[in-house]
Amino acid sequence: MSTTWHVPEDDLRAYVQGELDTPRLWSADTHLAACADCRALLAQVGDPVALDAGWERLDAELDAPRRGFVESLLVRIGVADHTARLLAATPVLRRSWLASVVLLLVMTVGAVYTADSPTMFLALAPLLPLAGVALSFGPVLDPTYEMAVVAPLHGFRLLLTRTVAVLAVGLALNGLATLALPSYGLAALAWLLPALALTATGLALTARLGPVLAPALVGGAWTALLLAAEASRHGSGTLAPFTAAGQGIAAGVAALAAGLLYAARDRFDSSSARVLFGDSSDGGAL
Ligand SMILES: [Zn+2]
Repeated sequence: MSTTWHVPEDDLRAYVQGELDTPRLWSADTHLAACADCRALLAQVGDPVALDAGWERLDAELDAPRRGFVESLLVRIGVADHTARLLAATPVLRRSWLASVVLLLVMTVGAVYTADSPTMFLALAPLLPLAGVALSFGPVLDPTYEMAVVAPLHGFRLLLTRTVAVLAVGLALNGLATLALPSYGLAALAWLLPALALTATGLALTARLGPVLAPALVGGAWTALLLAAEASRHGSGTLAPFTAAGQGIAAGVAALAAGLLYAARDRFDSSSARVLFGDSSDGGAL
């Protein structure tokens, strides 16, 4: 890095203890991801064993592969180096995950053509961005999860950065699949507002229920809603969520959940985030 600014030692001490406040926490997060000197200093002021182990694992994950396709692309379009690396380390942006999503979408579109109805596509499409965002958090799939061990990371800004990236990919893939359904016109885009509503609700609930239970509940609720709509549908009419009224409600839910998420932003920035993302089995703040 060309900058000569480094995280002050007092800030590092507060950082280790989870007491550094935003926006200084964000500056420290960003800088530490790129500066080995400050990480070394952080290791000295913090619990040396836990920190060393955490950063070593993180370094290994982040440094092992040379700059991949996604990361190169991000850097080329002007994303800062360390942000690109964080985003590229988001597992859902990896090719294997993308490939399975594409496969799922192709199968869905195939099913739509066979059934001559966009309903199944409209029902599944909103779940994909939710699943993508959910999968980008949590210890099993996320190498940068080690950062949550190292420091009270997984801050709100990191959450938003990743969510926007994952959501953009998910929405773009859904959009491409929609193009494969030209005969349904704009009606084939009726998944978009439900997708935003489900993702925003899932994230807002994640602040309270943790990164596993929240998206599972939201996905289950969407499925239950569709089954109820199917049961009460008259003939071959449009399912309730995809009518004009249903779309309006979806937009309202998306806006409300975005507001709740913003109100809960501190939960992602404080050291309680460590509890939240560290061990979902102890329930966090139920
Ligand atoms: Zn530094």
